Amino acid sequence: EQAAEASAFWHHGSLDRALLEQKVSLMGDLDLAIATGQIEVHYQPKLSLAEDRITSVEALVRWRHPERGMIRPDLFIPLAEQADRIAPLTLFMLDQVTQDIAAWNAQGLMLSAAINVSARLVSDELFGEALRSVLTSGRIKASSLILEVTESATIHDPERAAHALRSYRDLGCSISMDDYGTGQSTLSYLQWLPLSELKIDRSFVQHAHLNHADGLMVRSTIDLAHGLGLKVVAEGIEDEGCLTFLRNAGCDMAQGYLISRPLPRAALEDFLRPVSAV
Ligand code: C2E
Ligand code: CA
Ligand code: CA
Ligand code: CA
Repeated sequence: EQAAEASAFWHHGSLDRALLEQKVSLMGDLDLAIATGQIEVHYQPKLSLAEDRITSVEALVRWRHPERGMIRPDLFIPLAEQADRIAPLTLFMLDQVTQDIAAWNAQGLMLSAAINVSARLVSDELFGEALRSVLTSGRIKASSLILEVTESATIHDPERAAHALRSYRDLGCSISMDDYGTGQSTLSYLQWLPLSELKIDRSFVQHAHLNHADGLMVRSTIDLAHGLGLKVVAEGIEDEGCLTFLRNAGCDMAQGYLISRPLPRAALEDFLRPVSAV
């Protein structure tokens, strides 16, 4: 029995080590990946339900690794956060997204774009500096940039996070609360954070039209947010029934595979181009 335990221990230990080595090597690759163009930005359209057109997009990072193929952000974002590599990655995204917004505006395509800002970056000085310089550079209108943050961004040091977010909002960008409903103490945060938008998490949205409790949660969140003067985005919409439910519930914007998957920039531009245009 002891031998079995010992063997389990060693097996476990070596497994951990192999996993650790894999993670370390992946993070070593990340700097190189940014420098050599393996990191791409894909954009998922957000449909305005009132205007019935795409007014905004969410930037989602993609890593096209030469040996491992496409690596999902769900896998490497948490690693990058742990390894202190999230700042360079996010600065890369910010720069790329700024360039793309500027190019769209130059073509007469008025789109705003959101980037995801990890919890630990919200009050990071380096990120703050980079953001300030983008927002005051005149390269894009500050109002065309949205920062998506999660509740966890504000739990560790709420005062500091709120202060940082207020300074970004004062420069003209918008702040969106991402994955709403999945964190804790949600209600109080809504009041004192400088938010302009709330994104209801896919886990509530998905079955809102089928499940009474989910539907109730979505409808009351929309009413609450509107009462606080916030716009509401529902994410993860995969079928028509769900979209109809959200329209009837007064939701402002919809995002999900039903409307479009995240697309590379060129594909997004094709998607947005009216069919009649030559
Ligand atoms: P998120 O911010 O909640 O982004 C939405 C995720 O849901 C995206 O996954 C998107 O592709 C996926 N999605 C959109 N519509 C649907 C749908 O109808 N059905 C389903 N099943 N999924 C849908 P993705 O691109 O794999 O990103 C996963 C997560 O990784 C994001 O979740 C975000 O937390 C993080 N992430 C992505 N890009 C970045 C980034 O540049 N910086 C940071 N810090 N995090 C990022
Ligand atoms: Ca997001
Ligand atoms: Ca989300
Ligand atoms: Ca999420």
